[in-house]
Amino acid sequence: MALTAVAVDACPYSSALQLPAFSAKTRLLVIAPHPDDETIANGVLIQRVRAAGGEVKLVLLTAGENNPWPQRWLERRLSIGATDRLRWGQRRHIELGQALRQLDVPLAALQTLGWPDMGVTDVLLRSPARAVEELAAGIRAFCPDIVAMPSIDDRHPDHGSAYVLTQLALAQLSDAPLQLTYLIHGRDGQECLVDVTATPEQAATKLRALEAHRSQMALSGSRMRRLAGRVERYAPVLPALLMSRDVLPWQPAAWLRPLLRLSVVDSSTAQTWPWSQAPLQRDGGGRYRLELPDAAAAGPRFARLACSLPSLWIFDRWGWHEL
Ligand SMILES: [Zn+2]
Repeated sequence: MALTAVAVDACPYSSALQLPAFSAKTRLLVIAPHPDDETIANGVLIQRVRAAGGEVKLVLLTAGENNPWPQRWLERRLSIGATDRLRWGQRRHIELGQALRQLDVPLAALQTLGWPDMGVTDVLLRSPARAVEELAAGIRAFCPDIVAMPSIDDRHPDHGSAYVLTQLALAQLSDAPLQLTYLIHGRDGQECLVDVTATPEQAATKLRALEAHRSQMALSGSRMRRLAGRVERYAPVLPALLMSRDVLPWQPAAWLRPLLRLSVVDSSTAQTWPWSQAPLQRDGGGRYRLELPDAAAAGPRFARLACSLPSLWIFDRWGWHEL
């Protein structure tokens, strides 16, 4: 198989950078925040698993309905209301079905959670226990041995939060599957990466699946082709790397701090504070350390830094940090 480990020198776990040989027993679960993520980031991995006779399930978090500019363009309308978004989500669902057919994944393998597009972070922060259980139930029902999920470094808020949700959901399971993260928006900060290369036929099939997402190709075809044309590259989630990291990676400027909100979430609770009221201690190096009263609690926990002002820029500036 053409699975190549890269950046081995920087990675202390180079021996872990081997994907298992796929077979009829392989069960790949792909977590996708929006229709098209499955193809852009996983179209070759999915084909390889299917070619070996393995099963693929896709859990789709949102319908991708909050997508106003392509909708304005294709539907020739300026104002977009709730009914219009619903219709757009249905359109994207049909396109996703066509893309999955290209990738040899039956529609029955698709589970949709119907969370709001651009609202996955809200779902997580408002009702973490319910969201985590909903996702965990979908994972449990399929018993995957590989889970592909967005990277924590992805700057699209739905993607970064999808990583956090998936980690919290996986922590509910007794057996952890192999976990791979994929990055679409932003720069990958991971040092351990695995490439899944495509044969010419797989690359052509992936392109046909991409073209099925016509609503997205209409305005952004070249960007979509560029993203999908990259080699599929995954960072394995390595348990040994999940050490306690209660020192935050952020040192925001003083003038920004009144605008910032810090959130901490685990599998059942979420808390948000204005920066000035967050339980932070500053160490001698000027770094901020979270001082949570129940810091010894079991299970993964994540912090998020965000600006409280509304903004036209949809991407996260700071995003999530694994504690
Ligand atoms: Zn997406």
